[in-house]
Amino acid sequence: MTVTEPPPTVFDELESAVRTYCRRFPAVFAKASGHRMWDERGRVYVDFLSGAGALNYGHNPAAVKAAVVDYLLADGPVHGLDLHTTAKAAFLERFRDVVLAPRNLDYRIQFTGPTGTNAVEAAFKTARRVTGRTDIVAFTGGFHGLSLGALAASATAFKRGAAGVPLGHVTRMPYEGYAGDGVDTIDLLTRLLDDPGSGVDLPAAFVVETVQGEGGLSAASPRWLRRLADVARERGILLIVDDIQAGCGRTGTFFSFEEAGIVPDLVCLSKSISGIGLPMALVLVRPELDQLGPGEHSGTFRGNNLAFVAATACLDHWADPEFTARVRANAATLAGLLDELAVKFGHLGCAVRGRGLIRGLAFADDGLADRVSRAAFNKGLLVETSGARGQVLKIMPPLVTDEDGLRHGTGLLADAIAAATAEGDQQ
Ligand SMILES: *Cc1c(COP(=O)(O)O)cnc(C)c1O
Repeated sequence: MTVTEPPPTVFDELESAVRTYCRRFPAVFAKASGHRMWDERGRVYVDFLSGAGALNYGHNPAAVKAAVVDYLLADGPVHGLDLHTTAKAAFLERFRDVVLAPRNLDYRIQFTGPTGTNAVEAAFKTARRVTGRTDIVAFTGGFHGLSLGALAASATAFKRGAAGVPLGHVTRMPYEGYAGDGVDTIDLLTRLLDDPGSGVDLPAAFVVETVQGEGGLSAASPRWLRRLADVARERGILLIVDDIQAGCGRTGTFFSFEEAGIVPDLVCLSKSISGIGLPMALVLVRPELDQLGPGEHSGTFRGNNLAFVAATACLDHWADPEFTARVRANAATLAGLLDELAVKFGHLGCAVRGRGLIRGLAFADDGLADRVSRAAFNKGLLVETSGARGQVLKIMPPLVTDEDGLRHGTGLLADAIAAATAEGDQQ
């Protein structure tokens, strides 16, 4: 039998080799709604990818879509540098009323360039300015973006290797559990910081993810986070929580650090803050640390007013107790379904990672997650891998996926695991 190669597409012909997700999910998508996407041929996919965390409220949520369309039709300014606009005022007021005030949080809001990595750059600059120190402590498995300052803090060697210049001023420390159950990584961190013979200088800041979205879905315990916050406070080190992926409701609360009861000095938000996939990023900074002067961290797209309008509409959810109850119920449903998978595939060493609706499945065979992700695509499920070796499946449905959607998606996932292991047996 001769297999005819499909003709090259416009993407093969013109798009840069650096493209990545589209290689794993080689469909041409034409429509998206809620937790589903359709390709140009009308084939449906269940989306457990959620734009790598940028679509917590699902694709094209109706209320957000309507707010964006109304604003455009009324000729609201779309681009505004950092000019004051009614859209920005509405966002700031809603964020204060729905997010900050109910949690007793006092932060200034710095709008940065619209990518997560730019928010991280801004947080690092502030921490370095305020403390007069240069080093940032980042953790094993951490991911903070790909521009040079943030890239230095990102753990994966492959990503850092693309920089082409030396990356410096970051000290790597072990995340919780990194060195096995016998090693308390906060004790180790404290010892290295306090010993003048350790070779570790006092850093400007710690930067940490409470759940490592790109680093294999390891999650820090509330106790570990509280101890980290204590170590920072006692030594005048600033605590930056990078909540770009785990924030905006992923773990069940608006911020991922709420359960731990800590108050970071700086918080980075991006990905799902606009809620409809429009680029937007910000840094929350304790008022006394807000020390960058006018223009010291500028950028053309810090005033994406369409994103402000969308973000304001999304924040309505957080004023609605039914929404938060639903997210918690969905997290419990997903946990139950994944636990069932872990039992069913116990012979593969299947283990559940993460928290809330940012979850991972790891297997004894590090190569299996990749094969499952590819098999899942063939069955109509978008699910990516995480970790430096792509060794963990990342399960991230929209927060608002209904129970049927969660069951359907995890059912497809079970089929994909079975298919991927059957392939393996034939080899
Ligand atoms: C995605 C991500 C970033 C970088 O965001 P970009 O918009 O891709 O620059 C930084 N930190 C975390 C935790 C992320 O998940």
